[in-house]
Amino acid sequence: MAGQKKYNITLITGDGIGPEVTSAARKVLAASGVIIDWEVVEAGQQALEKHGTTLPDDTISLIKRNRIALKGPLTTPIGEGFRSVNVELRKSLDLYANVRPIRSSLGVSVHHSAIDLVIFRENTEDLYAGLENEIAPGVAQGLKIITECASTRIARFAFKWAQSHGRRVVHAVHKANIMKKSDGLFLNSVRKVAQDYPQLEYHEIIVDNCAMQLVMRPQQFDVLVLTNLYGDIISDLTAGLIGGLGIVPGANIGDKYAVFESVHGSAPDIAGKGIANPLATIGSAAMMLQHLGEEKTAARIRAAITLLLAEKQQLTPDLGGKASTHEMTDALIEKIKLLK
Ligand code: NAD
Repeated sequence: MAGQKKYNITLITGDGIGPEVTSAARKVLAASGVIIDWEVVEAGQQALEKHGTTLPDDTISLIKRNRIALKGPLTTPIGEGFRSVNVELRKSLDLYANVRPIRSSLGVSVHHSAIDLVIFRENTEDLYAGLENEIAPGVAQGLKIITECASTRIARFAFKWAQSHGRRVVHAVHKANIMKKSDGLFLNSVRKVAQDYPQLEYHEIIVDNCAMQLVMRPQQFDVLVLTNLYGDIISDLTAGLIGGLGIVPGANIGDKYAVFESVHGSAPDIAGKGIANPLATIGSAAMMLQHLGEEKTAARIRAAITLLLAEKQQLTPDLGGKASTHEMTDALIEKIKLLK
């Protein structure tokens, strides 16, 4: 269409189910009418084999040039091998806020209904700083880095977002009873920010109790602010409450750049089988459109996802259905067209 805006967006297709779900997201975005010029770059194992590094300079500079990327999951070897490229990427681009909306959907069979909360996970430090040593045979040490600066900025981001999105309650999640210095610093930093938002209800909760409360009464939570590791674990817990990792989108946001990706990993157990649920990545792409100011299209994609789930006709096996990734994607595209 003449005069329509065109976006340059960097794409990391990722490992495992990454290529399947990112290609579904590209198809959906194309059908939604948004014009995107994708610049595909490599990272992770593929990049290591080709370029001798898991995060080539070109990958970082292209994301910096476009400022926005959509990303599939990247595999990280367990207990050995290269360090997490996901963590490196978030650190190199200073994507300090990991935003993960957790919302129940009609049609997805779960124990609870009416869950609508948003996780704000600090994305650059904590035990993910990757500072580990074997200090003596049989003794390993991992450093938990918590700074006032990073804790304050994730808290500001979360409170600002809560206020501008009509949210009412913010919980800071911590373990400051045990880690008095590190989690204590996080908690004090969030507490200070909370004072600037008297209109929002503010609570503090110890992470283990938070996990139990989430399983028992998740509806009491609205906005959660957490350090990196607790944020990661609580994200998967809450994903489990609403139907699994196949449907939870996410965004990594910094002051300059933003990388959108689902909460799930590369799911090696189902990779290549054509049954991965693409909705988490499509939802992340909708968050990306929202970020770009394409609110109407983002809302249309979200509405189509809601309809698709409610109808229960074309669901992938993780949601109890028999549809393939392609079938689910095509059914979603039909809905997006109907909603035009
Ligand atoms: P995972 O999220 O890949 O899988 C956990 C479970 O959820 C598996 O049973 C999987 O089949 C299922 N699942 C995940 N996504 C799904 C989808 N879209 N549709 C249907 N089912 C889905 O977690 P994992 O197995 O612990 O990790 C595998 C690899 O992914 C590891 O190397 C890990 O480091 C990496 N990882 C990467 C990211 C990222 O790139 N941001 C995030 C998490 C894990």
